[in-house]
Amino acid sequence: MRKLSIGIIDLVAKAPTGTMWMRIMGANFVSIMPQVVATWCEEQGHDVTLVTYTGRENLIEKLPANVDLVFISSFTEAALLSYALSNLFRSRGAITVLGGPHARCYPQDAQKYFDYVLGFTDKALVHLVLRDCSQHRPTGLRLSAERHPARLPGVARRWKFIDQSLRKAPVIKIVPLLSSLSCPYSCDFCIDANVPYQPLDVDEMKKDLRFLLSKLKHPRVAWHDPNFGVHFDRCMDAIEEVVPPGGIDFIAESTLSLLSESRVMRLQRNGFKALLPGIESWFDMGKKSSTGQKTGMDKVDKVAYHVNMILRHIPYVQTNHIFGLDGDAGISPFELTKRFLDLAPGAFPAYSMLSAFGQAAPQNLDFQKANRVLPIPFHFLSNIQMNIKPKNYSWPDFYDHLIDVTKYSYSPRLLVRRFLANGETIPRWLNIVRGLSSEQFGRIAYFKAIKRLLEIDRPFRRFFEQETSDIPPYFVEKIRRDLGQFWDWLPKGAVSHDPNAYLLSAEQNCSSCKVPRVGVA
Ligand code: SF4
Repeated sequence: MRKLSIGIIDLVAKAPTGTMWMRIMGANFVSIMPQVVATWCEEQGHDVTLVTYTGRENLIEKLPANVDLVFISSFTEAALLSYALSNLFRSRGAITVLGGPHARCYPQDAQKYFDYVLGFTDKALVHLVLRDCSQHRPTGLRLSAERHPARLPGVARRWKFIDQSLRKAPVIKIVPLLSSLSCPYSCDFCIDANVPYQPLDVDEMKKDLRFLLSKLKHPRVAWHDPNFGVHFDRCMDAIEEVVPPGGIDFIAESTLSLLSESRVMRLQRNGFKALLPGIESWFDMGKKSSTGQKTGMDKVDKVAYHVNMILRHIPYVQTNHIFGLDGDAGISPFELTKRFLDLAPGAFPAYSMLSAFGQAAPQNLDFQKANRVLPIPFHFLSNIQMNIKPKNYSWPDFYDHLIDVTKYSYSPRLLVRRFLANGETIPRWLNIVRGLSSEQFGRIAYFKAIKRLLEIDRPFRRFFEQETSDIPPYFVEKIRRDLGQFWDWLPKGAVSHDPNAYLLSAEQNCSSCKVPRVGVA
């Protein structure tokens, strides 16, 4: 195999940006898989350049001029930037590969713009791409391993890539680690719902932690497990064996049902500084929040009590909530969230809207069959833009509720209460910066703009009511402005996509609706 010049781009930002939040935190949102792919490529003797794009890097200058192969890892929100970059690097003779969540969610669309689109990616699959490394146009080759890789290269082998992103983080430097892949729960809306839970080798985890302690004075680690602590004792035993008390600060996402007080105290003793439990709904998902049959205000009381207990031991708690679920109706979900914040003012609330990300989750097929999915351009498909027509709300009413609850959540009164309730300096200021920067100004302004257009712009409203699939000029203009120089590289037609591609592909490929896979030799 000839030696290749390989570029790997980890898209943390969806467009050029210089916001305070991204400047401070952007480099900490790196993904692990681009580093893993970079390591596997280097092992094969290729020259590799990995760039984490936080919105400020000049990608043309950062990658070698003669790059042969460009891997891009992208969330759906950054998909249009990835399409533009693919077009740009193809024009310079490169072969392009897409991986990451967008490739798993919207492979049919991505195939139009990349030579390869990767689902589950293991070493054998990467070797296959390196050996083939050829144009597949106009339709890219879609490849997937059967499952997540059983082992990943550890921190020591990935260190040069980790270190280069740490150098970009000016204040807080966080290293991502994994102790497991996927999750044993099966929440309908989640990309991990149908993927088997897979704990990773605990000895590798210990090696990673030891290595970090040898390299950094006081490391901060974010566990990227979708649900940390499913095998709680196994993980904590490993940490206690190699990390002296207070030697590393940890951040983890975990369900409330895993967080009993004795466990939270053990987490505290072992340096856990931030936990991100999912609450999702006040009317459903009692099992994962450990509230059983309780709903409504009963669930609010129980969850607030639980979160306040966690906050007595852990300085930063972000609670994750979803609005627009089919089980929600009327003002209650929003008012109950406000009551929760009154009762647990130290929690930082993170809101998502129910969205169907292509074929990420099994229930998306039902939304597509019911013709409820809108072709909202990928650029807006983050957790703040719902692309499913709400079951129990008109769009303007839904946005009124969203604006109201968001204003309440990041009001000066609650920001001050949150500041006072958090015991440590970094969590306090993170809450303020985040509350003011991305949540208060960014989200409220966006929600207000959408609400106003729904009222005054007839074509915009017709799009949301599914009377037309023409992308409203507001969206197109915003993409053009956001992408800046990359707009000129966006392939024609890329702003639109088929919101029912998953359904179509499921009907065409097989009766059991599985993603078509290409075997790896
Ligand atoms: S508990 Fe969290 S990670 Fe697990 S399936 Fe539900 S939403 Fe996904």
